[in-house]
Amino acid sequence: MAEHAAHRIFASQVLLGNGWATDVALSVGPNGTITEVESGASPRAGDTIAAGPVIPALSNLHSHAFQRAMAGLAEVSGRGEDSFWTWRDTMYRMVDRLSPDDVEVVATRLYVDMLKCGYGRVGEFHYLHHDRGGVAYADRAEMSGRIIAAATASGIGVTLLPVFYAHANFGGAAPNDGQSRFIHTVDDFLALMDTLRPRTAVVNATLGFAIHSLRAATPDEMHAILAAAPGEGPIHIHVAEQQGEVDAGLAWSGRRPLGWLLDEMPVDRNWCLIHATHADTNEVQRIAASGAVVGLCPTTEASLGDGIFPATAFRAHGGRFGIGSDSHVSVSSSEELRLLEYGQRLRDERRVRLVDGPGRSNGRDLFEVALAGGAQALGQPTAGLKVGAAADLVVLDGNDAFIAAADGDTVLDRWIFARGDHAVRDVMVAGAWQVQDRRHRLDETIDQAFAEVLKRLC
Ligand code: ZN
Repeated sequence: MAEHAAHRIFASQVLLGNGWATDVALSVGPNGTITEVESGASPRAGDTIAAGPVIPALSNLHSHAFQRAMAGLAEVSGRGEDSFWTWRDTMYRMVDRLSPDDVEVVATRLYVDMLKCGYGRVGEFHYLHHDRGGVAYADRAEMSGRIIAAATASGIGVTLLPVFYAHANFGGAAPNDGQSRFIHTVDDFLALMDTLRPRTAVVNATLGFAIHSLRAATPDEMHAILAAAPGEGPIHIHVAEQQGEVDAGLAWSGRRPLGWLLDEMPVDRNWCLIHATHADTNEVQRIAASGAVVGLCPTTEASLGDGIFPATAFRAHGGRFGIGSDSHVSVSSSEELRLLEYGQRLRDERRVRLVDGPGRSNGRDLFEVALAGGAQALGQPTAGLKVGAAADLVVLDGNDAFIAAADGDTVLDRWIFARGDHAVRDVMVAGAWQVQDRRHRLDETIDQAFAEVLKRLC
């Protein structure tokens, strides 16, 4: 991790780990962590004066970076019923044309945009491993290395989740041609993990891993990977995103995918279940009791017509969730939170659903749950601004009329439900400013490179 000079930030309002505080001085040490928090302080010469309220940066717990290149390209109706599965065919055609350079450019531009939307860390669920036709690169971690390079260049923290993917459907079905760039044997996958361990240890990165889905791995393969990689960091899996997957799981095992996963795998707080959209009442209770995080991706789930996760019931059981932008039809953190809440409202024909009790702010409760769930899912020891935590923070724009007229929880309600991304002014990750006054140092160069990649691919 980069070394920076120790410094102090003074802000009139800060959302700390134990709530809002006023006139706060945050001291940041040379290793990028918060070393002291003083409330009721006075600004000193040399302090950086925050230009508005300071809140912790959120984690984006689910990303497939390359999919950003096809956002907006799957919006023309096909010959039959359009679905997740027809979208996936479009995605596979895009995958076939991507070079390592393309992936690095697309990911760098995406991560810069994530920072500008108030994310300080991304969980990259990375399954594009090989060259066209499934040919291995000379460096087996070529593509993973491009993700690490993109994160490092942008300044975002990354939790890299190399994905094990071996089959096209339940029961160990052979992969299809569109999946050839994703496929590993168990031994090759474990060798990839060995290669990545030292490479992720030297940057602001955490290494975990993912099983693509119950469609893509057999129970024996999953057990073999779990046995070989104990305590490796977080474990992510796509599960029960589509009713079609639930039906196929029932046909395969007589059990629903979530029920099977909870019965057969050691699901605990180290796991993150991506989507879990089609969870029944019993599964909702069991996931909550396991301590696992559900990774909700509301804009992608809406884009793909997945369905609506029973988040109110899940929260009633103390369930933990975080948010991710998945296919990146949106990169906006406030939009994910807003749409998550609005899905519950539309289903229930009621307002203010995801709150922990009467009189509570919807924005505050959404934000706090997603902050804690995101940090847990990305293997971070702590969430929020406190001594010992990483200085990953966002300054909302105190000159914006909505933010200027707000204090305390209303700041979050105004940002999430009214103002959106434009309220994000400055973003610090690991003690270094990455976005200042809505600008990132790579803006010009990465914009141009990204435009060239898009023109060539599309
Ligand atoms: Zn996904």
